[in-house]
Amino acid sequence: MNMLINGEFVPSSDHSAIDVINPYDGTLVDQVPAATAFDVNRAVLAAKEAQKSWKKFPVHERAAIVYRFLELVEQQKEELAMTLTLESGKNINETTVEIRNIFTAWRAFAEKAKHLYGTVLPAGQEPGHERNLVLTQREPIGVIACIIPFNFPCNLFNQKVAPALLSGNAAIVKPATDNPITILKLGKLLMEAGIPKGVLQVITGRGATVGDALCSHEDVHAITLTGSTKVGIDVAATAARRLCHVSLELGGNDAFIVLPDADLDLAVNEAANARFYNAGQICCAPKRFLIHRTLKDAFVEKILERVKAIPAGDPKVPSTKIGTLINEKAAMEVERQIQDTVVAGGRILIGGHRKGAFVEPTVIDEVPHDAAIAHDMEVFGPVMPIIPFDTEEEALSIANDSIYGLGGSVFTQDMKKAFYFSNELECGSVVINGSSYFRSFEMPFGGFKQSGIGQEGVFSTFEELTRLKCITLKGIL
Ligand code: NAD
Repeated sequence: MNMLINGEFVPSSDHSAIDVINPYDGTLVDQVPAATAFDVNRAVLAAKEAQKSWKKFPVHERAAIVYRFLELVEQQKEELAMTLTLESGKNINETTVEIRNIFTAWRAFAEKAKHLYGTVLPAGQEPGHERNLVLTQREPIGVIACIIPFNFPCNLFNQKVAPALLSGNAAIVKPATDNPITILKLGKLLMEAGIPKGVLQVITGRGATVGDALCSHEDVHAITLTGSTKVGIDVAATAARRLCHVSLELGGNDAFIVLPDADLDLAVNEAANARFYNAGQICCAPKRFLIHRTLKDAFVEKILERVKAIPAGDPKVPSTKIGTLINEKAAMEVERQIQDTVVAGGRILIGGHRKGAFVEPTVIDEVPHDAAIAHDMEVFGPVMPIIPFDTEEEALSIANDSIYGLGGSVFTQDMKKAFYFSNELECGSVVINGSSYFRSFEMPFGGFKQSGIGQEGVFSTFEELTRLKCITLKGIL
């Protein structure tokens, strides 16, 4: 499938292409263009021009296009879910949920966009200002680069592109290199729904080429990226050279803390569901399991029962719960991280093997407090390291001793203690008696420390992707 530049689906300027491979069986799903810096420049100039009239569209007209788009998605939702499964290795139940999320997210952003109110500020705090009126209003920023990771491409497309377009910006989407086709198809449906040419474009290709060309272009006015911390830092450095606004949703190593009075069955259920969803490739999945020593053996026994029962296999088959990782290289990296944790002193209780892009669900017990996985090593795969602790201070100290600060969770029946932990954890969100992978559309979602800058969600993205203008009417009162 070709990429979308200025209203047309085109190959790259040098006709180079990238194979999109099904990670489950190695078959070719399709080919997409490997865009060049020339293509990126063409798209940015088209976006800049198109945004001039798009920003003048009344919000009800922008919202009407969105509702037409959702009708088209409704007609193709099964095909979209299957495309996402084939290009990602993600099981069909999970991709069906991801496609269904498009409806909730775009409707929510469309409704919120109709209510981006300004304010009137009381004048007269200083002598001589009494007759002035000060107003604020939100304006689009201009051309927004929306850079998307492989793990939840549609969810992140929703989180970025819906608010960018609805608030009058032009969006240039850069999907992940491995699985861009579902996003290209969504782009096609948005065009059919009535988005003017140039307002939405989708450029495929390699991060280093397309990403760098986009992020360093002087006519890209804001960058919203979800991805790894390393790429986030590179993008922020490039953007800083021309003071371009960035919004970054990056990596995480969320702590999952189980205190001695916790409901153990609940904790086991939440741990098993959250850590192995999407084969462990979730930014806000719990990735470090800090279990109080008095409960540790019982937790391990119950979690092993759950892990043994996870059906692995062909992601197209609805009974499969765990498919492959995004590609074999990613699986080899997870295999290396498992071995690293064993060398550090951890003991594999189940799993630990890899075949092609598939990694067995793995539980590693007795992970020492100083192992890399207990702090700064994000494992993007189905791996559950269990780290026993004795005191609350010890648990908090391990949890906070990380470059990451995305989310965290605490299990206890004592609400006073739950709030103590919520306040002490250095991360952007905390879930009490639930796993940190819980995410609802309304909540502000974002990380502290090297997990990011800014927050996404219906509550907050419009603030990231618009700018606030202040207008003063002097002497009007
Ligand atoms: P990645 O950083 O490798 O790639 C993300 C995107 O950036 C891709 O589209 C890629 O092509 C592009 N890119 C790569 N190099 C670039 C460059 N130099 N300039 C601009 N763009 C460039 O991440 P990934 O492997 O696709 O996703 C996994 C990572 O994303 C994990 O670390 C995960 O925790 C994180 N993530 C975070 C959130 C969140 O909301 N905080 C959500 C999902 C994933």
